[in-house]
Amino acid sequence: MAFAEVALGQIRSLRQTAVPRNYEIWYVYAAGYNRSLSRIINETLARNGTLSDADLEQIYETYLSPMRTTARIDKLGARVINEIDDVMALIADVLGMTAGFDDSLKSAAEKLGAAGSREQVRAVIQALMKSTREMQETNKALENRLDLSKVEISNLQHSLEAIRAESMTDPLTGLGNRKYFDRAVADAVARATSEDKPLSLLMLDIDHFKLFNDNYGHLTGDQVLRLVAMSLKQTIKGQDITARYGGEEFAVVLPSTALKQALAVADHIRRAVMAKELKKKSTGEILGRVTVSIGVSMLRRGDTPDLLIERADACLYAAKRNGRNRAVCETDPEYFADAEIAWPDASSPAKNADRDCPL
Ligand code: GH3
Ligand code: MG
Ligand code: MG
Repeated sequence: MAFAEVALGQIRSLRQTAVPRNYEIWYVYAAGYNRSLSRIINETLARNGTLSDADLEQIYETYLSPMRTTARIDKLGARVINEIDDVMALIADVLGMTAGFDDSLKSAAEKLGAAGSREQVRAVIQALMKSTREMQETNKALENRLDLSKVEISNLQHSLEAIRAESMTDPLTGLGNRKYFDRAVADAVARATSEDKPLSLLMLDIDHFKLFNDNYGHLTGDQVLRLVAMSLKQTIKGQDITARYGGEEFAVVLPSTALKQALAVADHIRRAVMAKELKKKSTGEILGRVTVSIGVSMLRRGDTPDLLIERADACLYAAKRNGRNRAVCETDPEYFADAEIAWPDASSPAKNADRDCPL
């Protein structure tokens, strides 16, 4: 209700039409969960004191339109091509004019050399003034068009940046998505290797989440995913990277962090999630708590991102098998016991049996 009131208040005070599109823009602004949208609105308000219909349209198209990313990229591509075509056509005109001006300068020089009377000199100068004025006008038109083009290109840059950010974001939790994680972990491994610094990885999975969904429904399950994401955001700071790895699995990359500290971070996250009592918003019904299991691995010399992920994942399954609601790292006895029993080799039937049949 508070967000709704702010949204309607803005529409009223800026005398905008109360159509759904404008309401959505101001609601998202009031909620503050789309930082790019808030920033562009604040900048436009600071500059112009209001938002025009064109601004609202542009903001909606860039930050909120449900149109699919590919369609938006196509549309942006078409705008870039149009812009380039227009500017190229103008440049061709200007080049034609410049060549004409050059000719008229040459002929003026010849005529001046041959001029025998004041009248002839005056005629040459008048012709020169005329072509100079035309050239000035053409240059002015080019300057104006290039100014417009600068604004259009800056809008296109904002739109492209928003699409890029969206393509890397998980819409449910606002965390980075799998694509973002894959890139971030590869970059982090490369940096840690070249700078010879430690790097740790946490893989986190919600315990008995299927049961939670079955009991309370998928929508409530989605709220829990948001809550876990929020706990991660609150616990993780600075250069650490969080992402939703898959359904109810999350990953945290911890640069410059050795195993022991990483395990402490994992435990901090685990406690933060467990500390939250879940309540159904609509009915006030208390749903209890959810817990998470976490696997922790640390980069070894010669490791690839896949090996680092694989070991964190194996630690995660060790945490599951050892009772859940715990963090296990790759120096813990649970990991070794587990590795011996459950992962003797890739083709062992024991591995699959164990995986399909958690505790
Ligand atoms: P475990 O403790 O062994 O991890 O048990 P689990 O029930 O969490 O594990 P399992 O892999 O069997 O189930 C994962 C469940 O997560 C399946 C699905 O119901 C739920 N899930 C995955 N993605 C989503 C999602 O986007 N929204 C909701 N609500 N549930 C999801
Ligand atoms: Mg899972
Ligand atoms: Mg699970």
